[in-house]
Amino acid sequence: MKCRVCRGPAVIDLPRHNANFCGEHLVEFCHRQVEKAIAHHDMFEPGDRLLLAVSGGKDSLALWAMLRELGYDVDGLYVGLGIGDYSDTSGRHAREFAQQRGLVLREVDLRDSYGYDIATAAEQTSRKPCSACGLSKRHVFDSEAVAGGYDALVTGHNLDDEAAVLFGNMMRWNVDYLGRQSPVLEAHGGRPRKVKPLVRLSERETAAYCLVAGIDYVVQECPMAEGNRHLSYKATLNDLEVESPGIKANFYLSFLARGLPLFEPAAHTERAALARCSTCGAASPSSTCAFCRLVERLQQTPEETP
Ligand code: SF4
Ligand SMILES: [Zn+2]
Ligand SMILES: [Zn+2]
Repeated sequence: MKCRVCRGPAVIDLPRHNANFCGEHLVEFCHRQVEKAIAHHDMFEPGDRLLLAVSGGKDSLALWAMLRELGYDVDGLYVGLGIGDYSDTSGRHAREFAQQRGLVLREVDLRDSYGYDIATAAEQTSRKPCSACGLSKRHVFDSEAVAGGYDALVTGHNLDDEAAVLFGNMMRWNVDYLGRQSPVLEAHGGRPRKVKPLVRLSERETAAYCLVAGIDYVVQECPMAEGNRHLSYKATLNDLEVESPGIKANFYLSFLARGLPLFEPAAHTERAALARCSTCGAASPSSTCAFCRLVERLQQTPEETP
């Protein structure tokens, strides 16, 4: 297997691009895809201050490295979720990555700042762990990005993530969600501008990038992911991809070009009608946002002592 560019030994084959790359040209390919996403969707400019949500996994660390290599000014934000070993290991990888490169990593621990962790939230409310976790992370990401005066909040969602979310939204025809599934969401109602520069790269490509770039990341899966529907959507899309290389990228990127504009107007109208949460001030369909309701409820429910 030879690299398409230099004919040296290749480290990865990419059937959807009908190409194989050596380490050096894989890095070049990844940079090109990230730059293309940033430029095509007008995500941000050199000189903007960016805050990247860092989980300690391959996508966020690969993106941090790539954005720095491309010359962007990026700080990291790690949220301590309190999920046992998984959180300990992921936090360690995020901290080591930042320390080794002299980068700024901000940290917020849910238990220290809000008095709960994800296991407690799942046990004491009717929410599934991933739902409580997603809600908590979104709130912390948004409030830290706004409080820190950053120009955009950056997340490491990749092509597989976005295609799986799109698949799920289409299976249920969640038109509100479809109208908001853009890799760029403008700032509104106390929430920051949000961007996803990895949408043109797959999980396999970011994992290969980490291997070539010598980035250590948490390999262990989150123990609370079990039953998360997105995993089965990803598996279904991967089966289709084996049969027809490129179909996953086509599904998602063609949606952005041709489907999203059909759903966006309704999402804009809905967003314009949002109120502000009386507790945290963020845009919300009700007078108290879902996050503040979760925190209130957990504060009212005493934790069981062993
Ligand atoms: S799998 Fe679910 S609980 Fe675990 S980190 Fe992801 S969203 Fe949170
Ligand atoms: Zn090469
Ligand atoms: Zn609130």
